[in-house]
Amino acid sequence: MKLFEHEAKEIFKSFKMPTPAGGVAKTPADAKKRASEVGKPVVVKAQVLAGKRGKAGGVKFADTPEEAEKHAKEILAMRINDLPVEAVLIEEKLDIEQEIYAGITIDRNERKYVVIGSAAGGMSIEELAEESPEKIIKMHVDPHLGFQPYQARDMVIAMGFEGKQINQLATFFLILWDIVESYDVELTEINPLILTKDGRFLAADARLNIDENSLYRHKNLIEKLEREPIDQNERERLATENDMAYVELDGDIACICNGAGLTMATLDTVSLYGGKASTFLDLGGGADAQRVEKGIEIALMYPKVKAILVNIMGGITRCDEVAKGIISAREDGDITVPLVIRMVGTNEEEGQEMLNKAGIPFLRTMEDAASKVVELVKEAA
Ligand code: GDP
Ligand code: MN
Repeated sequence: MKLFEHEAKEIFKSFKMPTPAGGVAKTPADAKKRASEVGKPVVVKAQVLAGKRGKAGGVKFADTPEEAEKHAKEILAMRINDLPVEAVLIEEKLDIEQEIYAGITIDRNERKYVVIGSAAGGMSIEELAEESPEKIIKMHVDPHLGFQPYQARDMVIAMGFEGKQINQLATFFLILWDIVESYDVELTEINPLILTKDGRFLAADARLNIDENSLYRHKNLIEKLEREPIDQNERERLATENDMAYVELDGDIACICNGAGLTMATLDTVSLYGGKASTFLDLGGGADAQRVEKGIEIALMYPKVKAILVNIMGGITRCDEVAKGIISAREDGDITVPLVIRMVGTNEEEGQEMLNKAGIPFLRTMEDAASKVVELVKEAA
């Protein structure tokens, strides 16, 4: 789950991280009010779950509350990365001496966290990573040992800071670490962490992505959000509700299988025969007839779907139950596109006989089934 900048900053503040004074506004009038509360020149920032707002024109400066109102009006009407801007953040404009980068994410290959810092943060951090990777300092952190204060200081020294700035900046990294541990964070970034001309360090931007699998542990946070925690369409929501793994893709063949490995293999096989999957749908283990029917129903709600491929390895899942679900979906008139079935394993004969009687063709191998479904889609086109 991605948090908006203003939501992430609320968390930063609750951990006593220095952030610029200000607050969120949903209307130009609100923005004006916020700006007069700040009582200084402000920055008006689009609140949208996309990076690079600065380059997209979503960050503007205002010397007066009236100007803030005008910018807010423009920014609230913008779309950034095809997303509407629903709010702006109004904050004191900082006089920048230096823009710094601080972040923590997960390095899955190393099975560790990685703390990242650079004295040259700001909007071009991606280019810096390409052109001068030595200016980006990385430190791996064992999740069991945690990130220690001495490591934070080493980090900041490696970034080139000296004297009392070492501890000041190390504090930001240590707070980020606390937040990572407390909120099951997958990625957090402060870019820029601004050093002002008057010598203050402040988190001027905030990015925070929380592992969605951990959301049940963060009920307090979710209750405070004035929105759905995860942006899902109707089909994704239904799949989540039914405990099915569901991913939409660009093609037109819905693959409904049991087990993530088999579903991936089915997608690959469809692609091998020149087709393109529209849907990854893993029914999970032990699917009964009702679940199979539900899966078909969800898959068919996606307008891109031109054919369905059901591929089942019967283990705990029984082929006769799967057949029952498919037959029932067809009887209900739910199935409006060609359907190809492949199933093997537990109660295979019973299942196949049921499909035979119902006049539903099935194939024995994944290759045959995949090539058949691709052929049917091509014929229909
Ligand atoms: P992003 O482009 O989505 O990452 O948005 P940021 O919040 O990082 O803002 C983009 C850029 O705007 C920053 O890198 C700064 O250069 C500038 N900026 C943001 N806040 C301030 C501020 O308070 N004062 C000044 N002078 N510049 C700011
Ligand atoms: Mn930024």
